[in-house]
Formats: sequence, structure tokens, C-alpha cells
Amino acid sequence: MKAVPAMDGDKVTGHRIFCPACRCTHFFNSPEFPTSGGHKWSFNGDTERPTFTPSMNMRSNPKDHPRYNPRCPSSVCHSFVTNGRIQYLGDCTHALAGQTIDLPDVPTEWMNG
Ligand SMILES: [Zn+2]
Repeated sequence: MKAVPAMDGDKVTGHRIFCPACRCTHFFNSPEFPTSGGHKWSFNGDTERPTFTPSMNMRSNPKDHPRYNPRCPSSVCHSFVTNGRIQYLGDCTHALAGQTIDLPDVPTEWMNG
């Protein structure tokens, strides 16, 4: 599964994808559960060929963030997830900047975060 739903009871709070550039998961909040900054994404409902809009532009895993995850590198990661593929824009600081690749399945050990 390329987009794994996160549940709060019977409500989907968002979907997790595995980003091969950052080697960790990124989370797209459902419109009903926006981030504290108000960010939210629409989802096409297809966990095998997901599309999220708009793009995700994040400073991935900053070391000063309370949820900093030492398993993940820190970087700028700006991407569009469309039809099961991830397009990295040119302002990414990681090695896949400017490339578009197939999303991998979310590894089992990352299913919960
Ligand atoms: Zn990333």
C-alpha cells in the first residue's frame, strides 16, 4: 500500500506515504483534520495510486522540532504526489530533486509513523 490511512476511531485523519528521498514517512492531513498551521490535502481515495493536492513543501524533520525523528535525515522536500508517483521539485535539498519516481509501498515498520 502506497498511502496508509491513519485512523482516529472510524475517521481518517490523513495518509502516510514513504518518501524514498527522505527515507521516512510524510503525512498528508485530511481536510477534516488539518495541521496546526491549517495545512490539509485532498485525496483521490486510491491507496495504490494516490493523488494528493496541493503539493507538500516541507522542511523535513528539523532537528529543533518536538517530533524530530533521528531515524530520518533532515532536508527540504517539495513534492507532488500524483497517481502513485512522486515528483520532486527543483528546490529540494536531497538527491532526488527534479526527479519523478514511483512511490514505494510503505514499509511495514513505518506503518504507524
Ligand atoms: Zn521527503
